[in-house]
Amino acid sequence: MAASPEMKAAWQKILNTALSGSAEEVRQLKCGTCAGPLQIVFTPGERASLTVCCAACSAAIALDAGHEAPLWVKSLGPDITTGEAT
Ligand SMILES: [Zn+2]
Repeated sequence: MAASPEMKAAWQKILNTALSGSAEEVRQLKCGTCAGPLQIVFTPGERASLTVCCAACSAAIALDAGHEAPLWVKSLGPDITTGEAT
């Protein structure tokens, strides 16, 4: 299955926001494929990683997070689900 350019752009934005967005921006992220809620998990370590996956359509993506936790991890914790009411 080939991803459309729109889908690629949506996922690129999700990754950028997960890496460097604010807590509010991250909480509002939606799946780039089906617009469902996303689970975002930060795994700390020498090579920290971020995993973003969709509970609705099973789209998933992982990336190298560098050495520091993204800002939102401090306020939201390392394992969040987006789109949930506060
Ligand atoms: Zn989805």
